[in-house]
Amino acid sequence: MTDLPRSAQVVVIGGGIVGCSVAYHLAKRGVETLLLERHQLSSGSTWHAAGLIGQLRTNANITKLLGYSVELYDRLEEETGYATGWRRNGGLRLACNADRWIEVKRQATSARSFGLEMQLLSAKEAQALWPLMNVDDVIGAAFLPTDGQANPSDITQALAKGARLAGAKLVEGVAVTDFIIENDRVRGVVTNRGAVACEKLVLCAGLWTQPLAARAGVAVPLSAVHHQYLVTEKINGVTSDLPTLRDPDRLTYYKEEVGGLVMGGYEPNPVPWSSGAVPEDFAFRLLEDDWDHFEPIMDLALGRVPALAEAGVKQMINGLESFTPDGNWMIGEAPEVRNFFVGAGFNAFGIASAGGAGMALAEWAADGEQPFDLWPVDIRRFGAPHRDPNWVRVRTLQAYARHYSIAWPFEEFTSGRPLRRSPLYDRLKAKGACFGEKMGFERPNWFADLSAGEEPRDRYSFGRPGWFEAVGREHRACREAAALFDQTSFAKALIVGKDAEA
Ligand SMILES: Cc1cc2nc3c(=O)[nH]c(=O)nc-3n(C[C@H](O)[C@H](O)[C@H](O)COP(=O)(O)OP(=O)(O)OC[C@H]3O[C@@H](n4cnc5c(N)ncnc54)[C@H](O)[C@@H]3O)c2cc1C
Repeated sequence: MTDLPRSAQVVVIGGGIVGCSVAYHLAKRGVETLLLERHQLSSGSTWHAAGLIGQLRTNANITKLLGYSVELYDRLEEETGYATGWRRNGGLRLACNADRWIEVKRQATSARSFGLEMQLLSAKEAQALWPLMNVDDVIGAAFLPTDGQANPSDITQALAKGARLAGAKLVEGVAVTDFIIENDRVRGVVTNRGAVACEKLVLCAGLWTQPLAARAGVAVPLSAVHHQYLVTEKINGVTSDLPTLRDPDRLTYYKEEVGGLVMGGYEPNPVPWSSGAVPEDFAFRLLEDDWDHFEPIMDLALGRVPALAEAGVKQMINGLESFTPDGNWMIGEAPEVRNFFVGAGFNAFGIASAGGAGMALAEWAADGEQPFDLWPVDIRRFGAPHRDPNWVRVRTLQAYARHYSIAWPFEEFTSGRPLRRSPLYDRLKAKGACFGEKMGFERPNWFADLSAGEEPRDRYSFGRPGWFEAVGREHRACREAAALFDQTSFAKALIVGKDAEA
C-alpha cells in the first residue's frame, strides 16, 4: 500500500483529467501537492470521453484557456515520454442557415482577435477536407487548423506522470470523506485512511463534487446527465488526418477513430441521472445503451454522412457527465470557505478544458488570484436559486439542450421560471412587461405596447433586436415624462458603522 503523507500544502481531490492537470500545474510551480483518488486515475467521466479538443467558445478568456490546453497537449508527450494520442487534425464547424452563418463569421472574427487562425470555407472547400459528408444544405464552414483530438485516459496519465516528475504525490485508492474546517478556513481533509492536514484544497471530484462539497457547506450547482456517442467499424475514406467535425444545426459531432467514426450528439430532450447521488463505486462504468433516445440523432447524422448507414457499429457509449445551469464550468475559491477551491461541471468539454482550467486553478490556489478575468466560469457567479437541486436540474437540462443552438445576443433561459417575483410582478405583467431573469428574479426587460397589439415576447436576432422600438419608447418617457423603476431584483448593500452615512 502506498504511503499516505499526513500533510501537504495543497490536497487535490479526484484523479480525473482536471485533478491531474491541477496537480501538474501546482507541482510545476513548486507547490507541495498531494492528489487523492478514490479508485484509479481517469475512472470517472474521463475514461469514456470521445476526445474531441475544440477551442472556440463565446467568451474570449475561456477560449484563451482552451488555446492553452492545445499548447500543453502539443508538448506533453515529448515532455513526459507518455503517448497521449494528441493529433492536431483541425476542426470544422458547419453552418446550414443564414443565422448560423452570421454566428460562425462572428466567431471567426473574434477568434482572430485573440490569435486563433480560423478560416471561413465554402461548402465545397469544407467537403474537400471531409469528403464523406453531404453538403447539400451547407452554406459555409469555419476551419480551425489548431483544433484536434486525443485519447483522454492517456492525456490524464501523461499529466499525472508530469506531476510526479515535478514532485507531486498522487495516491490512488484513497477516498476523501470529510473536511477539517476551522473559522471558515480549510485545515485538512478526512480520508478512509486517516486525516491529512493541508493549507488549501482543490476539489475536482467530477460527478461526486456536489455531495462532497455540501459536507463543507459549499454549494456546487451541477447535475449528472446521460451523454451518448457511437463508434463505428472502419469506413472507406475515413483517414487518420480527418478533422473533427461539428454540425450544430444537426446537433452532432464526429471524429476519426481507428479508421472508423465516433459520432455523438446533444439531444433536445436530455436524460438526467435520476437515482439520487451517483454511487461511489461507479468507476469505469457506463449506462445501458439507449438506442431509442439516440435514434433522432442518428437520423440527423445519416443525412450528413450517408456512409454511416452501411457502417457496422463497434460500440455505443452512454456515459455520465456533470452539467451546469449555464453550460459553463466552475472554478475558483468557494465563497463559503477560505482556501476551498473547486474545479467541476465540465459540460462535456472537460478534456478540451482541462489544460487551461488546471493552469488557472493552480495559479489561483497558489497565488490567491486568477490569471485573468474568469467570471463566466467563476464559482461565485451562482447564487441562492442554485442551491435548489430540483431547479438546478431543470435549468441544466435546458443548458444541455442548448449546447448546439445559436447563441443569440441577450437570449434568456425559459426553464424554471418564474422563480422569484417582485410584489409588482403581476401589475408589470399586465402592463405588457417582457421579463428577463437575473439570479432567479423576474425583471422587466422591456414593455410591449399592448394597445397596439404588440406581444411581450422576445424575437432574437443578430440584427436590430425585437425590443428596439419598445426601449426607445421607454427612453423617451424617461426624458420627457417620468419613469418608475422596480429595484426589487437588485442586490442591496447595507453599510453600517460609525462613518456610514445615512
Ligand atoms: C460520453 C461522453 C463523451 C465526452 N466527450 C468529450 C469530448 O469529446 N471532449 C471533451 O473535451 N470532453 C468530453 N466529455 C467530457 C469529459 O469526459 C469530462 O468533462 C471530463 O472527463 C471531466 O473530468 P473531471 O476530472 O472533472 O471528472 P472525472 O473524470 O469524473 O474525475 C473525478 C474523479 O474524482 C474521483 N473522486 C470522486 N469522489 C472522490 C473522493 N471522495 N475522494 C477521492 N476521489 C474522488 C473519482 O473517482 C474520479 O476519478 C465527454 C463526456 C461524456 C460522458
